[in-house]
Amino acid sequence: GFDDSRGDLYLTRHDHVGYRYEILSLLGKGSFGQVVKCYDHKTKANIALKIIRNKKRFEKQGVVEVNVLNKLTQEDPNEEYNLVHVLDHFYFRGHLCFSFELLGTNLYEWLKAGGFTGVHLGVVKRFATQMLQCLNLLHSLKIIHCDLKPENVLLKDSRILKPLSADANTYHSNSSSRSTFSSKIPPDFNPNNHIYDIKVIDFGSSCYEDERLYTYVQSRFYRSPEIILGLPYSMSIDMWSFGCVLAELFTGYPIFPGENENEQLACIMEIKGLPPSSLLATGSRTRTFFDSNNTPRSITNSKGKKRRPGSKTLSGVLRSTDMAFLDFLDKCFSWNPEQRITPKEALEHPFITGQRFIPESSDNILRKAIQKQSQLESEKKPLSGSST
Ligand code: ADP
Ligand code: MG
Repeated sequence: GFDDSRGDLYLTRHDHVGYRYEILSLLGKGSFGQVVKCYDHKTKANIALKIIRNKKRFEKQGVVEVNVLNKLTQEDPNEEYNLVHVLDHFYFRGHLCFSFELLGTNLYEWLKAGGFTGVHLGVVKRFATQMLQCLNLLHSLKIIHCDLKPENVLLKDSRILKPLSADANTYHSNSSSRSTFSSKIPPDFNPNNHIYDIKVIDFGSSCYEDERLYTYVQSRFYRSPEIILGLPYSMSIDMWSFGCVLAELFTGYPIFPGENENEQLACIMEIKGLPPSSLLATGSRTRTFFDSNNTPRSITNSKGKKRRPGSKTLSGVLRSTDMAFLDFLDKCFSWNPEQRITPKEALEHPFITGQRFIPESSDNILRKAIQKQSQLESEKKPLSGSST
């Protein structure tokens, strides 16, 4: 075992990490290091081992990750909060390592295995509810995840994952963020045919709300407007990402697929229109995206596409008319972080509870239409019995 230039430990199948862990396969490789599947000779079970790169910056963040994981694991003795449990942590040849319970495939690979067709709304709702358990706990502890995305949400069932061919000797894949291990998921795999549980992983970017280290966080597609615009941020950035993940689960594709941060904001404005001037007035990076009249600087993406603010609707992009779902996402995608829905409020929303959804008074016309509709339905019922 030696280190490569990134500071990743070079490992092969059947290598041992200490006497205890025997390497079986590579589960994932990200910016922080690699995650390998191991056989734990002490407990005689398979586990996941995250081996942090042997570089100061990553080690420092790794220490934060261990602390957060220990806290969260401690807070969740009955496995109610849908977050990964850490088992142990130690140093091996100068690398910080931590072991986790072994989970299944991540939701990006899962969507890919399903041909990016998305999943039924019932599945979206189930995963939303489970992610909210995690977000609710984080909220009560004032922890921001800072990197919520499909790659960081895993199916609990580890049997679904067969990511690497058994004959591979080394695991040095290319380090592209969206790797190609999914080819081992059976092609007939249909996400809608099984109902699974999920867990949130990767607290490698997380922080306590009053100990924020970085001004620029989150993966681009899931990045909240306050981060893009350079505003102070809070736990509500996770609710923005959460909304993005749900939309992607439903359609199969990222809802805001910006090629760069400029286009990222353009994608958001395409659906949401221009941000409120109060946000623009206080954003330290506003002038990167808007001229002095607060008109967005016109940009063209690599396909020659220009995105116009307000030219699309949420309903149109999602191809959904489910009012509860649309309202739920709309509340996740609030420009103003203070008005964005909280995990607790989200758990009480009709999309999650299944209660009949009645839009708020601002949508009076729509509400009247829906009331009228339900009135008609209830008037119809007694008749249908006698009409045969
Ligand atoms: P990074 O900080 O480098 O993104 P992650 O903790 O997100 O590292 O792990 C990278 C990938 O490894 C994940 O996307 C997932 O596919 C896989 N992985 C991580 N933890 C586990 C686990 N407990 N069980 C199974 N696979 C895992
Ligand atoms: Mg990750």
